[in-house]
Amino acid sequence: MKILIVEDEKEIADGICKILEKAKYQVDCAYDGLSGLDYILSEIYDLVLLDVMLPKLNGFDIVKNIRSQGIHIPVIMLTAKSQVDDKITGLNIGADDYVTKPFDAGELLARINARLRGNREIKDGRIKVYDIILDPTTYMLYKEEKSVKMSKTEYCLLEYLMMNKNIILSKEMIFNKVWGYDDDSEYNNIEVYVSFLRKKLKFVNAKTIIETKKGVGYLLCEKEEENG
Ligand code: CA
Repeated sequence: MKILIVEDEKEIADGICKILEKAKYQVDCAYDGLSGLDYILSEIYDLVLLDVMLPKLNGFDIVKNIRSQGIHIPVIMLTAKSQVDDKITGLNIGADDYVTKPFDAGELLARINARLRGNREIKDGRIKVYDIILDPTTYMLYKEEKSVKMSKTEYCLLEYLMMNKNIILSKEMIFNKVWGYDDDSEYNNIEVYVSFLRKKLKFVNAKTIIETKKGVGYLLCEKEEENG
């Protein structure tokens, strides 16, 4: 899963980044409010950690802006201990939670996991969709007793499809989310990795399949029961 940190104090941002990467999240950092807003509007992130005092555009204005555009990404505000009012203001304008600086890694991760669990199917850190389970710490795919190891890219692609089950994802969306804007790879890579995933889903005997919607993209769904 992809998390965005918007924080102008580079040391804090990098510290959080390390904690999150250790917990197997993909992380990007933005160091001012305007670029933070730009990143959020790309809609490739699953959650944003947002500082309040930021150059160019403050955290509250960012939340107001994205909520007014109907973007529902979970937002956790990073607030300074002295600014009690910030917590209330943040929650009132549409942030989901806050963490007070300085925070410890355990608390931060617990808050993040709670938020991600809120609108996802996650149990014990594992993601369960239809008849398959994905483990983000080991990159293993499970269906009952069967399991298979995934590469990092396969994992990211399948996770994205699982998080958006039964929704058609365009190649562009998939590419930006899994490979990233600045990657030199080609869109063709998606087809290659989808075929890898199909083999692995078949290997574990999953009813979950990836359908190609010609000219549009892909979606994860459940194979319909065969008659007889
Ligand atoms: Ca700041």
